[in-house]
Amino acid sequence: MPITPVDKVWMNGKFVDWENATVHILTHALHYGTGVFEGIRCYETQHGPAVFRLRDHLMRMERSGKIFLTEIPYTVDELIAATHALIKMNELRSCYVRPIAYRGSGEIGLYPANNPVDVAIAVWSWGAYLGDEALEHGIRMTVSSWRRHDPNIIPPQAKVTGAYINSSMAKLEAVNSGYDEAVMLNPAGFLSEATGENLFIVKDGEIFTPPLHSGPLPGITRDSVIKIANDLGMQVTEAVLTRSDLYTAEEMFCVGTAAEVTPVREVDRRYIGDPGPVTLAIQQKYFSIVKGEDEKYYDWLDFVD
Ligand code: PMP
Repeated sequence: MPITPVDKVWMNGKFVDWENATVHILTHALHYGTGVFEGIRCYETQHGPAVFRLRDHLMRMERSGKIFLTEIPYTVDELIAATHALIKMNELRSCYVRPIAYRGSGEIGLYPANNPVDVAIAVWSWGAYLGDEALEHGIRMTVSSWRRHDPNIIPPQAKVTGAYINSSMAKLEAVNSGYDEAVMLNPAGFLSEATGENLFIVKDGEIFTPPLHSGPLPGITRDSVIKIANDLGMQVTEAVLTRSDLYTAEEMFCVGTAAEVTPVREVDRRYIGDPGPVTLAIQQKYFSIVKGEDEKYYDWLDFVD
């Protein structure tokens, strides 16, 4: 999805012009993937722009940094204030928010700790990640030949830039084979997640999602969807799932900040069809919450004004 430039980007405490928001060619993270980051959405509401679960995202970024011994030199509160100021300054009513903390330039070599931790936040206007059509009619997925990381190779619970070569390989393979997205199995062969989304299936009217020990990222949307389902009177069971569970699912959907709640209509030519009632109920509730139409969930909204 193309990025539409805005006026300013926040870099290391300063608001810089979009075209000057650049890094040196010897930035450590460019060579070795030593950065932690987040993807967050800000939605237009009747009370102005509201960022969905901003604090939870920034806390996850702090935890990702902790795993990789990368202390972020700004507090969560400072990053919240910077995000608010940036959205206002760029006069955006809704946008995607991309904070990143990465090892900058200074030394080259695999010991990163002598390099500075640079921090930036970029915002831009962004539509549906998998397309509007996908949100309405669902996507076609394929099980990737690439496995998700083993927790002792690259911790899948941390959102680290270098780890995403794994997702990119799976996404390339899926799209080049004519599918929209890839399902990723963990090294033991059980269902983990998609390249940038968590997965849910419905079987015999019950909702299932892989547990965190199956290796998915602990998604904020995954957590929100579990709470929404419970509030709608539906139980979600965290269960170790196989590809046969996908092939026989009555409904399936993938969730994430970028993909929101996207129905799945097919996996490897096993057809599910149009979005079912569980998917539609959760999708509808999710959109009403993020757009500020449900006061019960205002705790999840971080109003910019
Ligand atoms: N899995 C992966 C690998 C991701 O990159 C993302 C996006 N951050 C997700 C799942 C969904 O997480 P969230 O709902 O927090 O955006």
